[in-house]
Amino acid sequence: MSRTALRICPLCEATCGLTLTIEGTEVTGARGDRDDVFSKGFICPKGAAFGAVDADPDRLRTPLVRRDGVLREATWEEAFDAVAAGLRAVVERDGPDSVGIVLGNPNVHTMAGALYPPVLIAGLRTRSLFTASTVDQMPKHVSSGLLYGDANAIPVPDLDRTAHLLLIGANPLESNGSLCTAPDFPGRLKALKARGGTLTVVDPRRTRTARLADRHIAIRPGTDALLLAAIAHTLFEEDLADPGELTAHLQGLGELRDALRDFTPEAVAGACDVDAGTIRTLARELAAAPTAAVYGRIGSCTVPHGTLASWLVDVCTLLAGNLDRPGGALFPQAATDRTPRPAGPGHGFALGRWRSRVSGHPEAKGELPLSALAEEIDTVTDEGTPVRALIAVAANPVLSAPDGDRLDKALDSLEFMVSVDPYLNETSRHAHVVLPPPPPSQSPHHDFAFNTLAVRNQVRYTRPAVPLEPGRMAETEIMARLVLAATGLHGTDPAAVDDMVIGQTLGKAVTEAHSPVHGRDPRELAAQLTGVSGPERRLDMMLRLGPYGDGFGARPDGLTLDRLLAHPHGIDLGPLASRLPQPLKTVSGKVELLPEPIAGDLPRLREALRERPDGLVLVGRRHLRSNNSWMHNVPALTGGSNRCTLHIHPDDAERLGVRDGAPVRLKGAGGEVTAPAEVTDAVRPGVVSLPHGWGHDRPGTRLGHASGDPGVNVNQLLDGRALDPLSGNAVLNGVPVEVSPVAETISALT
Ligand code: SF4
Repeated sequence: MSRTALRICPLCEATCGLTLTIEGTEVTGARGDRDDVFSKGFICPKGAAFGAVDADPDRLRTPLVRRDGVLREATWEEAFDAVAAGLRAVVERDGPDSVGIVLGNPNVHTMAGALYPPVLIAGLRTRSLFTASTVDQMPKHVSSGLLYGDANAIPVPDLDRTAHLLLIGANPLESNGSLCTAPDFPGRLKALKARGGTLTVVDPRRTRTARLADRHIAIRPGTDALLLAAIAHTLFEEDLADPGELTAHLQGLGELRDALRDFTPEAVAGACDVDAGTIRTLARELAAAPTAAVYGRIGSCTVPHGTLASWLVDVCTLLAGNLDRPGGALFPQAATDRTPRPAGPGHGFALGRWRSRVSGHPEAKGELPLSALAEEIDTVTDEGTPVRALIAVAANPVLSAPDGDRLDKALDSLEFMVSVDPYLNETSRHAHVVLPPPPPSQSPHHDFAFNTLAVRNQVRYTRPAVPLEPGRMAETEIMARLVLAATGLHGTDPAAVDDMVIGQTLGKAVTEAHSPVHGRDPRELAAQLTGVSGPERRLDMMLRLGPYGDGFGARPDGLTLDRLLAHPHGIDLGPLASRLPQPLKTVSGKVELLPEPIAGDLPRLREALRERPDGLVLVGRRHLRSNNSWMHNVPALTGGSNRCTLHIHPDDAERLGVRDGAPVRLKGAGGEVTAPAEVTDAVRPGVVSLPHGWGHDRPGTRLGHASGDPGVNVNQLLDGRALDPLSGNAVLNGVPVEVSPVAETISALT
């Protein structure tokens, strides 16, 4: 007898609502939920494979504990005893910074990943925090922090109402969107064109998104900041810069104009390989469109000037009069956002409050660069102790960070490591304890992070579609117990973690004059919370304190968990609306257009005007059926065009003697890999492309399917030294590489 259950898809940032078919406890089918208020029935091949992802036989079912050098199945009690003993020994001897925390991308796709890592980091008081953000979007956080005073205040393009969209380094037809949550992103782009709007794509590859565009500009990788600076320059020069009603909330407009004076279209044309006339046209189109937005993503972030490019994305939108305006780029308002405070000056955003021990990289948003993790473990200096123990949550940095070989060795040298991971993968195989969360069907879901980036305000929550299998532990309980084990409270009831957070949050809310619960008794408020678990009570609290909440009775029609549960397909909260100046937390209370760190980095961009790399450079590639390193073990999501091949332009292939399908050797600063060539004019001459997340050929993993077609680890070509200095983000695109056919190399040696 089959039944259906609703589940928000956790497999990418689009957060589609799914209707799962369930037989017994097994998910046997998935289709788009047509009644979902946001996704309206959209589903992609990953979502359709939800059942296969969920039922992967290689998922771990019980904890593993290393004994006599071998990972063996253990009880949860044994596992947490080992975690507490391993972590506390290091903390008590060497201090909290000697325990590193690594958070991987899937954290953002689970409730546990949103609710417990902040408590873990605060409780442990370690400054050795590394996350996937510094191999991805940290430049955007830093630019938002500097512009708006809040690293999480990220404006998103108003996809459904804009008349003109300029996409830079983004390929949403494959990624389904990132830092812009939009189910059916491809359909929304097609709708833009159908209503007479225009789409311009800037990308060194002719991606599926680029093929949809009215104009595709095959820029030289890594030069987006120069192109954007020239667009901004042109807007000023041709008197097209008009921030409109926002002008009253800006600081530094004149200084910005002066700072960009050198970046004329003619000056940047050679470096970008985009002619000056085209750059002027881009600026004029942006200014002339009734509404327009600029959207930059991974290709514009993972480059040497990632923060400047991210800053200029917003600057160009703003100068063209489209920031915080319907049809332009707007700040979403999520249901679990904190109670909005009145507009006014804030504390601002600080960079470099501490530095990494070995290379002195400044922290950004409380994080050190993931690129520096290996050296923070394997290098002894006079500055403090190395990282001696590691907590990895849904993280596989051996594949996602530069120079996996070095990190692989460094992890092996750790005194203690615990991984929260469903797989024994290239990273968790080093752990002393592996704590496996249940499959997604057995977990509740609410998108705390992605709703703050959604193109429409809405709220949805799904309870577990399938009961927790016997012997499993809920991911939220695993994380709560991990917090207790790491902070010296092992053995305490894990509910204490949620109770503590609830007590602290309500205790603070009642002291805030703008809060709907100002002056009330926090214990009386806590007693009102509903939900069948600690995480549900926390969700109820956040909804009720949030911008649409019932304020614990102050606004009787407002949101509560009970009300959300009564709407299983979600509640639509309306289109995005203008919000400035309320979200600003800068010291001035204004949008600070030319903050000092940005001004200080512009001379480096000026130097880039002269750069003309003459060799090949490498860029990444995304496939619709993949998401980083964690979906290569599902047969339904691999094969076909989702292969680890090197895209190379026919001209370059001919010049180098590379044949289609033949193996080629790539050499970079960090090492060498060999991959089959795929000769295609979808990449521009001078550029080669290899996807990331592959390289499943290390021993000791339990990834039966992935290890059969392992691919190669593109990050092995990097040595980890190339970073965007403001954000600490790794440079993954525009990386110089040497390419040679393998056969030629062998014959040269013989
Ligand atoms: S687009 Fe993303 S969220 Fe939607 S079904 Fe596909 S993987 Fe899931």
